[in-house]
Amino acid sequence: MSESTGFRDARYAHALKREIETLSNEKKIRIVHVCGTHEDTISQHGIRSLLPESMSLVAGPGCPVCVCAAEDVDMAIELARQGHIVTSFGDMIRVPATDTSLAKERTKGADVRIVYGANDAVEIAKKNPDKEVVFVGAGFETTAPTIAIELLRKPPSNFSILTSLKVIPPAMELLVKIEGFAVDGFITPGHVATIIGTEAFKPFAEKHGVPCVTAGFEPLDVLEAIRMILIQIAEGRATSENEYTRVVRLEGNLAAQKALEQAFRIGDVPWRGLGIIESSGYFIRDEFSEHDARKRFDFPEIESIDILPGCRCHEVILGMVDPVECPLFGKRCTPEDPYGPCMVGHEGTCRIRHEFQGI
Ligand code: SF4
Repeated sequence: MSESTGFRDARYAHALKREIETLSNEKKIRIVHVCGTHEDTISQHGIRSLLPESMSLVAGPGCPVCVCAAEDVDMAIELARQGHIVTSFGDMIRVPATDTSLAKERTKGADVRIVYGANDAVEIAKKNPDKEVVFVGAGFETTAPTIAIELLRKPPSNFSILTSLKVIPPAMELLVKIEGFAVDGFITPGHVATIIGTEAFKPFAEKHGVPCVTAGFEPLDVLEAIRMILIQIAEGRATSENEYTRVVRLEGNLAAQKALEQAFRIGDVPWRGLGIIESSGYFIRDEFSEHDARKRFDFPEIESIDILPGCRCHEVILGMVDPVECPLFGKRCTPEDPYGPCMVGHEGTCRIRHEFQGI
């Protein structure tokens, strides 16, 4: 952490480091975050090196394309092979599914296009009225409202969405139920909380007795969130607190929540390598079923494989192994040629580890 101003001020970082050392009191403490952007901040600024040896800071399932089930990507690939225009975010295009990716299909002639959001895909649909245009929507609560809004705006009839949208709190539930994997505190994701509000994490914190602190994405945000978690632990409290007050409100973004409620219903969905998690995904409501690619198209039986032989993404996603423990890390699996989903995008734990090795 070399910068000397604002949220990267090394003097404040060292003051927080000392407070964290005192509060942790050499106790074994595991803090988990569920956000690829937090992992990027932590790795880029060497935050783990500032923590006492007794503490661990673990990356959980926080990368939207990493947790996108292979069957969702396989379905998108099938639609591309059927000759439809398939659109999605750049990272999503590169995610390896059972035996190929959308990017590889594009090299064989499929019409696969990178877009910045569902609105771009709608524009493509308007310009190509004779084609079916499918937007593959992967993401968490942060991305989902932008997709919901396009559904509510009455898109053209040749536009549909293949959803792979997930809800974060149920994945946190999964983590605390893993036997032998004690979680002492969660750093909750600032951008998810921008939508759902910090209050949304309160029932979880109280039910499981695990402090939750919503943090921003600067290094001092993360250190301060750790300090706040340690204070809750020291005082024997477990609730949801907000470090990211400059952006996140207690109640979240009510307009975005309303759009989500109108466009989607919550249901059980598969997470890559983790199986089906109850009430953890968004499904398009029946009123918009003509824009639901899952209902609009016929799909053949696809035997999808979430975790390819040798890949340890399912353990990386749960924070149970470090990416370097995967024998394929940096060898068969690199950012240029990712073998597993966690090596694809800038929110993937393996990709981040590869980028900031040695920091
Ligand atoms: S290094 Fe590659 S193969 Fe290994 S766990 Fe990560 S993404 Fe999977």
